[in-house]
Amino acid sequence: QKTVLIVGAGHAGYQVAASLRQHGFAERICLINDEAHLPYQRPPLSKAYLKGEGKPDSLMFRPDKFYRDQNIELIADRAAFIDRAAQRLVLTSGAFLDYGHLVLATGARNRLLDLPNANLPDVKYLRILDESEALRLRIGAAKHVAVIGAGFIGLEFAATARIKGLEVDVIELGPRVMARAVTAEISDYFQARHTAAGIRIHLGVQATSIENTNEKVSGVSLSNGHHVPVDLVVVGVGVLPNVELAAEAGLPVASGIIVDEYLLTSDPNISAIGDCALFASPRFGGSLRLESVQNATDQARCVAARLTGDAKVYDGLPWFWSDQGDDKLQIAGLTTGYDQVVVRGDREARSFSAFCYRAGQLVGIESVNRAADHVFGRKILGLNRSIEPEKAADASFDLKSVLA
Ligand code: FAD
Repeated sequence: QKTVLIVGAGHAGYQVAASLRQHGFAERICLINDEAHLPYQRPPLSKAYLKGEGKPDSLMFRPDKFYRDQNIELIADRAAFIDRAAQRLVLTSGAFLDYGHLVLATGARNRLLDLPNANLPDVKYLRILDESEALRLRIGAAKHVAVIGAGFIGLEFAATARIKGLEVDVIELGPRVMARAVTAEISDYFQARHTAAGIRIHLGVQATSIENTNEKVSGVSLSNGHHVPVDLVVVGVGVLPNVELAAEAGLPVASGIIVDEYLLTSDPNISAIGDCALFASPRFGGSLRLESVQNATDQARCVAARLTGDAKVYDGLPWFWSDQGDDKLQIAGLTTGYDQVVVRGDREARSFSAFCYRAGQLVGIESVNRAADHVFGRKILGLNRSIEPEKAADASFDLKSVLA
């Protein structure tokens, strides 16, 4: 039995199937897809697509024909239960499939707002295509939106809503925007840019209730006593990894499905990748769960290589991007756990980077409208090398000379 079953047809699941065929895998591949669309890209859902650019087709990785030509069986169903002893996956429809190897690429789902009235129709989330579609329509009619959570998705949405002419209030419990993900230098810059665009950002406060008139949202009350009259609420307070399928099958889970440095669970016939996986990282010396396209696709390629005879430790270099208004943020490496930040470039000219160091060693670079620094970051960190902070801070110093 050599069939590979893949649960979840997001970035990770799609890529395993495509890469297996690229590596010449000739056995059966089934991709279990519980969304009513061909596999598609998520990042545009809060960016270009949300602005009204493009049709759903423009989001698809590949047309229908690709799956037929590659003999990848797209199965419209949901995985319900794993019988590990029998190497069998039971689907919600009651059908079942036997596997040689099972790849869990179940991703993550929205963390829901736990407030009275949070289930009103005008309280929206942004994870899947259907939600982006709904918001695209609603943005045209709404006048004033409260965005709860100043993470990447909340801010991307806020910038788009403002461009579309809405009044926007962003409500964030943390002391600065994107606090968990980026340095204070980058938070401050984006806060200033969004504020200059007319977005009101409330920091250190929580939404305490959502008011309504009949079934319509009429406002949001904040923990500092303020009240914001709005007719739309968009919630971006993070995600929860989909670990239940693994947990119910007795596989170890913590803040993700636990996998080793080869992305294997404790069962040698089951791998887990992408947003749902908590993986052992030799590069960073601990366990990580990342939410990015890079992580999902590179892990998928690593598993496809292993299943076709080329087993390697997963060692992808993290990178990420976020488009907010006219600004492009790009991150190379992991910008957490640093003890020194050096700025290169000119914030006023809207082109600068924050180089992050731990014990004198470069660990990551966050760049705003400065693609060359980002490309440099991916190269030098990929080579496990560093650059002295003084050189990084000197904009006249040629970064490429360090790579020579
Ligand atoms: P997902 O893409 O979530 O796919 C998992 C799939 O599995 C889903 O379709 C889910 O429905 C399905 N599934 C779950 N359980 C089952 C089951 N039991 N049976 C069958 N199917 C199941 N990353 C970046 O790097 N840059 C960006 O700019 C960026 N922007 C983003 C914008 C938005 C709006 C969102 C939501 C995410 C963004 N991300 C971005 C993050 C990135 O999209 C995710 O990290 C990536 O999609 C993870 O891929 P995945 O395959 O692990 O999970």
